[in-house]
Amino acid sequence: MDKQRDFVLRTIEERGVKFVRLWFTDVVGTLKSVALAPAEVEGAFSEGVGFDGSAIEGLARSSEADVLAHPDPTTFQILPWRGEIDPTARMFCDITTPDGQPAVADPRNVLKRALAKANDRGFTFYTHPEIEFYLLKSSELVDGQPVPVDKAGYFDNVPGGTAHDFRRRAVRMLEDLSISVEFSHHEGGPGQNEIDLRYADALTMADNIMTFRTVVKEVAIEQGSYATFMPKPFTDHPGSGMHTHLSLFEGDVNAFYDAGGQYQLSAIGRQFVAGLLRHAPEVTAVTNQFVNSYKRLWGGDEAPSYITWGHNNRSALVRVPLYKPGKGNSARVEYRGLDSAVNPYLGFALLLAAGLKGIEEGYELPPEAEGDVWSLTSAERRALGYDRLPGSLDEALRLMEHSELVAETLGEQVFEYVLLNKRREWNDYRSRVTPFELESNLEIL
Ligand code: GLU
Ligand code: MG
Ligand code: MG
Repeated sequence: MDKQRDFVLRTIEERGVKFVRLWFTDVVGTLKSVALAPAEVEGAFSEGVGFDGSAIEGLARSSEADVLAHPDPTTFQILPWRGEIDPTARMFCDITTPDGQPAVADPRNVLKRALAKANDRGFTFYTHPEIEFYLLKSSELVDGQPVPVDKAGYFDNVPGGTAHDFRRRAVRMLEDLSISVEFSHHEGGPGQNEIDLRYADALTMADNIMTFRTVVKEVAIEQGSYATFMPKPFTDHPGSGMHTHLSLFEGDVNAFYDAGGQYQLSAIGRQFVAGLLRHAPEVTAVTNQFVNSYKRLWGGDEAPSYITWGHNNRSALVRVPLYKPGKGNSARVEYRGLDSAVNPYLGFALLLAAGLKGIEEGYELPPEAEGDVWSLTSAERRALGYDRLPGSLDEALRLMEHSELVAETLGEQVFEYVLLNKRREWNDYRSRVTPFELESNLEIL
């Protein structure tokens, strides 16, 4: 740690860094930032930087408002979009109370706790997300609708197109920040893009996702457009998912791999998937945290609606993908429920907890779904035992409310805050008269 701190202090000096941003995330998943003068960084390492936590969504109750941000030197990076004149760097922070206890409502701490539990059982948790988002002409609506930057579709190469330049620039910036990109392409909707990050341990990845969102937003501004991670900005176009590939390692060995298993998935892998499926309904209020998230889950277009697993089945909630023979270490399962507006720390913590529960309790994996689950009738789905994901934020909150797994993993304070905050959102939404009602009712009633 000391070596890392020395490295940071030296780099600040050598590169003439003028501002150091301390980053952390609130419970909703919004990135927060405090800028420090370089001379303050040494003190920030030894003592932390104090601020009023009650001003941050869900972070502290007003009676325990003072908190400290402790920068994690391993996350130091110079920001590539803050010019040569005043170089600016950032570090992610852990939040503590004044007496040095981890702040229970710091999402990074929630994930760290879940990872420590996996670690006690000898597991390291890796994730790799496929992040979808829309590029719009601006955040302004025209005739009540957002306006995408192009009309292209899946994997389209748009000559001279905004999206192409955009992805190239964003990928370069991410690489400058030591975030490796595996793929990037145009997605199904007009202006919709996807960038897939190379796998990393879940804490690094959650930090990377927060950085990713900032990079994407910055590049969009630079190019005169606007990027949104809203789960479903258009009624008639696909939503933006964040399908995430998950794996557990024991040392150097991928615990999901078994050459003799069905689809080379080990017993541990099967139990993990069984855990994901069994607990999916109760974690959905966090993995899909907005009213709008449910428009994606129930809007078709390859977003999952039913709790099934399958091998290369794109209608399933969990997909066991194909990987190359002899590449056992790339064994993984893809959870397709998450959307691009999830708080990645909380989402990963809950998926890990659900999967571990499956391993702990030795859950049986139900039979896989072979065909397209959407095209079945509800009677057929019932006969096959395929349950559905919650249909609305309200339903998801009702399921979460009774969940021991979610309460235990998030900790009481975050659990209560999510319920309160999201109930407020739901109540606000359901009390509004919408254009849909006016259009379909006003003239005939
Ligand atoms: N946009 C889809 C979703 O919301 C995913 C499309 C794909 O398979 O990449 O989940
Ligand atoms: Mg995609
Ligand atoms: Mg996918």
